[in-house]
Amino acid sequence: MKEVKYKAYSLNNYLSIPQMEKLSNEAKRNLEVVSNVFPFKVNNYVVDELIDWDNFENDPMFHLTFPQKGMLLPHHFDEMATVLDESTDKACYKIASNKIRAQLNPHPAGQQEYNIPEIDGQKLWGLQHKYRETVLFFPSSGQTCHSYCTFCFRWPQFVGMEELKFAMKETELLVKYLEKHQEVTDLLFTGGDPMIMNFKVFHKYIEPFISSENKTNIQTIRIGTKALSFWPYKFLTDDGADDFLRLFESITSKGINLAIMAHFSHPRELETEAVRQAIQRIRKTGAQIRTQSPLLKHINDKPEIWSDMWRKQVNLNCIPYYMFMVRDTGAQHHFAVPLADAWEIWRKAYQNVSGICRTVRGPSMSCTPGKVQILGVSEVNNEKVFVLRFLQGRNPDWVARPFFAKYDEQAIWMNTLKPAFGDQFFFEEEEETKKSFDED
Ligand SMILES: *Cc1c(COP(=O)(O)O)cnc(C)c1O
Ligand code: SF4
Repeated sequence: MKEVKYKAYSLNNYLSIPQMEKLSNEAKRNLEVVSNVFPFKVNNYVVDELIDWDNFENDPMFHLTFPQKGMLLPHHFDEMATVLDESTDKACYKIASNKIRAQLNPHPAGQQEYNIPEIDGQKLWGLQHKYRETVLFFPSSGQTCHSYCTFCFRWPQFVGMEELKFAMKETELLVKYLEKHQEVTDLLFTGGDPMIMNFKVFHKYIEPFISSENKTNIQTIRIGTKALSFWPYKFLTDDGADDFLRLFESITSKGINLAIMAHFSHPRELETEAVRQAIQRIRKTGAQIRTQSPLLKHINDKPEIWSDMWRKQVNLNCIPYYMFMVRDTGAQHHFAVPLADAWEIWRKAYQNVSGICRTVRGPSMSCTPGKVQILGVSEVNNEKVFVLRFLQGRNPDWVARPFFAKYDEQAIWMNTLKPAFGDQFFFEEEEETKKSFDED
């Protein structure tokens, strides 16, 4: 495959993208206002191979990567636009945008309060340990991506609000923590995108887990990445591509399960020659590829898109894993699909694929108590209800217990749901008093 050099565009240089001449002045203006609040970065592969420029206004890939006017509430849009009009001082832009950002729930699901573990009285800011078996690790060198998704719930990490970053410099403390916590079988490298790292740096992070000296109980290493979608050349022609694949092979040959948790939001992302070859090369190392995406208005809110995507993934030897609901942060109002509609989309998509594709779980909300799946809408004693259950719980005992919420056609997230048949959800009493289980 021919080598393609990575070229990134952001607010500073996006006008040098040749296709930008298709945008009206108003569209450019909207983009500038919104990307003063939300991060914006795109690259030559996304621009040249994923976006359909003949129909970019309705194009899912354009919507996934170029900030849209509707992502800001009208009063926030006006606030930002006014500052841009009235001042040339970048410091003023920053004050205005930080003020807006602070109103967009930058820390959903109690990420800062609950999930940061400690060791010897020291907070491990680069870790999150919420579910018993799995620790999330945010390597400090993986806190960016090859391109940014407009819906991303990690947006505060990319907009320079330094104090909001969860990142840890060294793996030393991570290993120490995992040695002490033998209940942890899964280590999930996340970011940003860990696949933004060069090989040498990435290798440093992985090394301790494939060395025979490590006394952790890690049996699965997961790597959360969108590189297959945004920059498949990482595994093809980039410097270090072959080294990465050899490292993957040495992980799997050690008897460790290596799972690439790949983000794909639309079948288009699976259709280029580059992504197909990259998937093939990774699969040859013995690594699995499991796929996930949120359900997004304007991008993938139709059952045919999902059934097509799952089918294509399975044909490429990937395993469909999660369908998420859009988190309660940032531009949720722009991308969210109501729970009731989400279930319909899910159901129709799920009905149209064979059991081989039905490894996928969802639609699921990642909220403070856990990952809550919408099992469906039903009727009990003439009352319309949502049937829900935990796929993951802060308390492992909550998992797989069905529970009920009052039906609400508009609801887009757990926080507005009311319990059916009682005044509390079964987990609520416990949640108020119980400290996170992962603290000593
Ligand atoms: C989703 C998630 C995990 C992984 O859950 P699985 O169901 O095992 O995939 C781990 N930690 C956090 C905080 C998560 O949100
Ligand atoms: S690749 Fe992942 S972390 Fe990066 S912007 Fe997209 S959703 Fe967010």
